[in-house]
Amino acid sequence: MNITVQPLDPARRRPKPEDETKLVFGKTFSDHMFMMDYFEGRGWVDPRVVPHQDLVMDPAAMVLHYGQGIFEGLKAYRTQKGNIRLFRPRSNWERFNRSAARMCMPSIDEDFQFQVIESLMKIDQDWVPHTLGSSLYIRPTMIANEPHLGVRPAHQYLYYIITGPVAAYYAEGFNPVSIYVSDEHVRAVKGGVGEAKTMANYAASLFAAEIAKKKGFTQVLWLDAVEMKYVEEVGTMNIFFRIRDELITPPLNGSILSGITRDSVMQLARHWGITVVERPVTIQEVVETIGSGDMKEVFGTGTAAVISPVGAISYKGVRHKVHHGDAGEWAQKFYDEIVGIQYGTKEDPFGWIHELKL
Ligand SMILES: *Cc1c(COP(=O)(O)O)cnc(C)c1O
Repeated sequence: MNITVQPLDPARRRPKPEDETKLVFGKTFSDHMFMMDYFEGRGWVDPRVVPHQDLVMDPAAMVLHYGQGIFEGLKAYRTQKGNIRLFRPRSNWERFNRSAARMCMPSIDEDFQFQVIESLMKIDQDWVPHTLGSSLYIRPTMIANEPHLGVRPAHQYLYYIITGPVAAYYAEGFNPVSIYVSDEHVRAVKGGVGEAKTMANYAASLFAAEIAKKKGFTQVLWLDAVEMKYVEEVGTMNIFFRIRDELITPPLNGSILSGITRDSVMQLARHWGITVVERPVTIQEVVETIGSGDMKEVFGTGTAAVISPVGAISYKGVRHKVHHGDAGEWAQKFYDEIVGIQYGTKEDPFGWIHELKL
């Protein structure tokens, strides 16, 4: 499919950020976006790069009523030599299609996604920040835009990608977070849509996140929805525990999102000879191993922060300090290695990097 490009009038281009280290996540957007329409019977049509603009939709657009929408999140990194690259993008395209299948939405050819991202990045490459640690956040999104009231999968969809520069997550070193274990609200249930990157999961998380914030915590630690016993995720990150010298993370059981950073940490750990175990972890085990000193580190993983060390966990009104509230040694090691691979200061033995040909 041929992608048409409609450039923004140079006189109307937005000013680039003055200070790349002060960017607030999700507030600044690049000049252009990608769009493409889907009609049942015709498939995907009219792929185009256009100026970043408002969407025009009928108020009966099905996504606005029934939440049929999915997204992805990845980043473009600029190396010191000035090359622009992506980190494991095929995994994002594959996950996008798994989310689409779960939500009864059409898939998008993964090879075509590379063509799409290259045409968008070609015109907006100056938007990729130059400061080490900062990057261009990329948000592919698909929504049901058929005007129709009545619950069923839509016959018409819009796929779009918006991008925007973001600052390094950690301005001055690791900053361990305090997390609140929600024992009243849940994010996702087995058999539900927890493993899809679909909008409903984030709506479902807001209420408990507000409670946590009011109590002074930055993130919610989610437990399983059936027994409220097993640890699932932290905020919008996967979670890892270092118990003695094993690296442990809950298995992908249907209610947990399959994080690409999660997979990268596991591959790196195995590469380094660390024992990695995917098994259910109860909140009781977490509390007990913190108490006994066997819990050496806890950290979250996700594209935004890469690694987010956990300094304290609050469960049933008791605050349990992890690793004296400081970032652990493994958290730092995984962070340094992944960021090094992303920015090209470290070898990439796994073939994770996709250089863009701009
Ligand atoms: C996106 C996301 C993650 C992290 O996935 P990455 O691919 O590592 O960025 C984890 N949990 C949830 C709920 C997410 O939405």
